[in-house]
Amino acid sequence: MTETKTAQLRPRQAVERMGEYHPPLAGREGLLRLDFNENTSAPSPRVLERLRSLSALELTKYPEREPAEHIVAKHFGFPPDQVMLTNGVDEAIHLLTSTFLDPGDEVIIATPTFAMYDIQAQAAGATIHRIASGRDFAFPFAAVMQQITERTRFIPIASPNNPTGAVVSRDHILAIAAAAPQAVILADEAYYHFHGETVLRDVATVPNLFVVRTFSKVYGLAGLRLGVIFGPADPMRFLRKAASPYNVNAAALACVQPALEDEAYVRWYVEEIHYSRALLETALVDLAVPHWPSHSNYILMHIGDRFQELIDHMRSRGVLLRSRNTDPGCAGCVRMSVGTREDTQQGITALRATLKEMQWQKPK
Ligand SMILES: *Cc1c(COP(=O)(O)O)cnc(C)c1O
Repeated sequence: MTETKTAQLRPRQAVERMGEYHPPLAGREGLLRLDFNENTSAPSPRVLERLRSLSALELTKYPEREPAEHIVAKHFGFPPDQVMLTNGVDEAIHLLTSTFLDPGDEVIIATPTFAMYDIQAQAAGATIHRIASGRDFAFPFAAVMQQITERTRFIPIASPNNPTGAVVSRDHILAIAAAAPQAVILADEAYYHFHGETVLRDVATVPNLFVVRTFSKVYGLAGLRLGVIFGPADPMRFLRKAASPYNVNAAALACVQPALEDEAYVRWYVEEIHYSRALLETALVDLAVPHWPSHSNYILMHIGDRFQELIDHMRSRGVLLRSRNTDPGCAGCVRMSVGTREDTQQGITALRATLKEMQWQKPK
């Protein structure tokens, strides 16, 4: 008989301390998904065709990331060593935090914003300084600048920001990068297409600037998990070291070229979003629902105490919305994505009926 030992399996302290993050992904089939800012239509037909043509060989052999990275590099006019494909932007964020953060390093996050920055910084054991945006959700530039110290190692900035739809100017991003040369500055351009401003070209000259783009939003490929990170050549070497050589699957890699090439598809979907966003904006003004101006494919609204009732009623009418009630500064807020004009019109019709049925009144 072996002796029974009482030692217990324990995670790292940083992981043990973390909260759990469970986005509401269950039971979304057959409903109009205006809750995750996904494309509500379909990817480019060229992408679908390529997926249908996947060969047995492509599936049996390990995926090779490099040829697809060359396609991306060429498309964006970058040297290949400054481009890396990832398993969604989520993996890019994870790679940045695991490559550049030691426990106790400082991270600055302007809130509210995308949850994954905070989650990955926590997992790395970093000290997180969360800076609240004002009531208008403008990026708190001065406060971020003030928080920078020698120990600051990571400043993620989403523009357009999720869930607010606010944007951060190029001047502000570059000023932050210059003030914190020892820190990774991440410009998250997941929603770039819906706004059109970018710092991608600045990657060539700013030695600590990284830019990420995703195939989950405008390209309609959230299910494939595909993202791309652009960064200075030297630091990118470390990211590659930290990543699995097979991090992006063969189906996703096969879609890179047709997705990037079908620019007419992207233009069409961006036009749909611009039209739909104006439609929702007009409806919210008409319904007297307080909301924030958005440069993206969603609008954040302030519903007040009855936010959950609204979400439940909308679900019973077949439309999913996302509560942002627990985000900093967002009590009583609900985010509604926009999609094709047809889908957005359906969402607005349901919203009108729901607010009426609830006899909802503008919160004081
Ligand atoms: C949706 C979203 C992403 C996309 O992440 P993927 O992992 O590529 O799906 C990245 N950043 C922000 C701010 C987002 O809202």
